[in-house]
Amino acid sequence: MFFDEEKFSRLREEMVKTQIIARGIKDKKVIEALKKVPRHCFVESESYESAYGDYPLSIGLSQTISQPYIVALMTELLEIKNSDRILEIGTGSGYQTAILAEIASEVFTVEFIDTLSKKSETVLRKMGYKNINFKIGDGYEGWPEFSPFSKIIVTAAPENVPGKLKEQLADNGKMVIPVGVNVFNQCLVKLTRLKERFISEEICGVSFVPMVKK
Ligand code: SAH
Repeated sequence: MFFDEEKFSRLREEMVKTQIIARGIKDKKVIEALKKVPRHCFVESESYESAYGDYPLSIGLSQTISQPYIVALMTELLEIKNSDRILEIGTGSGYQTAILAEIASEVFTVEFIDTLSKKSETVLRKMGYKNINFKIGDGYEGWPEFSPFSKIIVTAAPENVPGKLKEQLADNGKMVIPVGVNVFNQCLVKLTRLKERFISEEICGVSFVPMVKK
């Protein structure tokens, strides 16, 4: 077991060096979080060996854990401060959730599929995170009771930016979201709210699972 942890730690260092820093991620807090969070604990045990590879992986139920670089890029784009309260839509494996919880003060994460939500809650609690709140529900609704959020991250792709998520973003807040239901034509978008205006920047092409509508 000791040997395995050593090995995983080396794989993480290598992942951060070759996939994250080499591609231009500079935010030190993001880099430290990716070095620290044991990504293999968020995948099926038969995928342990591939957990640090440069690709997304299946987490069952037709869902995927994002490629490490995309997790780092989306986190960096959020420009997280220690005081931030973050809404995440699409808990999935909980890996991105852990990265956010390492940097921000509180994370509110919403997942549609109850088995995924419960599984990720078990893993994250076992790791000792106390600043994560879990909800099983429809991400299009956000989590109005705890809004506004200074940052919002969405890890499934809707056709357009959901109106209720825009409403729940604080003034000066930022949202990072993949937009477009066709996986071959999706764009990662960063929105910055300035009172009632939203400044939109197109970042790059991505391929996320679709954000499911009821
Ligand atoms: N961030 C995750 C990746 C999740 S994949 C990780 O690091 O593992 C996208 C997730 O979004 C899936 O778990 C899927 O069930 C969830 N999802 C899809 N549509 C949703 C919706 N309308 N509301 C909430 N979650 C949704």
